Amino acid sequence: MSINYPIYLDNHATTQVDQKVLEVMLPYFTKIYGNASSKNHKFGNDASTAVEKARSQVANCLNAKDSEIIFTSGATESINLATKGIAEYFKNKNPHFITVATEHKATLDCHEWLENNGYEVTLLGVDSEGFIQLEELKKAIKDNTKLVSIMTANNEIGTIQPIADIGKICREANCYFMTDATQAIGKLKLDVESMNIDLLAGSGHKIHGPKGIGFLYVRRSNPHVYLKEQINGGKHERSMRSGTLNVPGIVGLGQAISQSSKDFLTHNKLISKMRDHIENELLKNIKNSKVNGPKKEHRLPNNLNIYLPGVEAEALIISLSDKISFSSGSACTTASIEPSHALKAIGLNDSQIHQSIRIGLSKKTTPDQIHISTELMIQNYKKIKQLS
Ligand SMILES: *Cc1c(COP(=O)(O)O)cnc(C)c1O
Repeated sequence: MSINYPIYLDNHATTQVDQKVLEVMLPYFTKIYGNASSKNHKFGNDASTAVEKARSQVANCLNAKDSEIIFTSGATESINLATKGIAEYFKNKNPHFITVATEHKATLDCHEWLENNGYEVTLLGVDSEGFIQLEELKKAIKDNTKLVSIMTANNEIGTIQPIADIGKICREANCYFMTDATQAIGKLKLDVESMNIDLLAGSGHKIHGPKGIGFLYVRRSNPHVYLKEQINGGKHERSMRSGTLNVPGIVGLGQAISQSSKDFLTHNKLISKMRDHIENELLKNIKNSKVNGPKKEHRLPNNLNIYLPGVEAEALIISLSDKISFSSGSACTTASIEPSHALKAIGLNDSQIHQSIRIGLSKKTTPDQIHISTELMIQNYKKIKQLS
């Protein structure tokens, strides 16, 4: 058995670009390098054809229409476009916004921006497993509520929210529903029609596609979603997002999303079996350890966030740095190590958060990698524990 170190177990942060994805992208750098807007010649036309194929690939995975997909630079931009775009479009109607304490920073920071700009925001809490309470959501919705933003699956603890139920509540209450599906794409079946989703954000690099490319699904009928564009320029993407299209990135995203939706149930099974192994072994071998987040059946199949009492996560990560790459319960922002807001929201204190690690598997992860990682983690945990 030959293993290449370090073993990558941080797939919530980003994923390896799939070989096939890279292959379909390559010609669009050096051969088919036209500007997709220059449709009066072959270079531009070929690029445009490729972009429209990718648009269909994205739309097909969501049961959306091609014209409802707007390409962006990533999920962060998509969330900004949706949130600020709706706020600005409806600003004379005193719009109210609802989101959740465990959302990705992209969503939380946009809502902070809304508040700083005079908009009204309600932040819903979650229970100890990261779920919102539907009754609480219903009560929070007001006549002037314009947008409810709730992620499909959490990037730290893997909680899968009851998206179809939330969509139904929002539709009945006549407000838009956005979901950040960045972690859910390729793991869960998403259907914007049956789930009553009005806006959906996704990203290439979380699904074995390239970085710097993403999309926003914007519903065009029943109801039509109105928003104010955030980047002005040449009126690309139906005027909603100007700027020369990132053709190789878009082609890669299309390939990645269509691959990820193929055989995802088979992959989920294999991935969750490996996740269960590492989870069960850590729980068995590390006294008083505890999973942060929901039970397996309501959690992303590739997610494990676990509290390992008595050892700082950063110490464990450093001790294994040449062997395994994984993450802690603290988010490394640009400057500082901050305790995760999601773990805080489910009730952990700072010391528990600093002693929690996050493991993210992918379809590239192998059982051998997981067996070795499990052993190494237990070994090093015990070593560090003894020293302290
Ligand atoms: C990674 C991630 C984002 C940000 O995506 P980018 O494409 O890197 O901007 C947003 N939401 C969730 C849940 C994520 O995991």
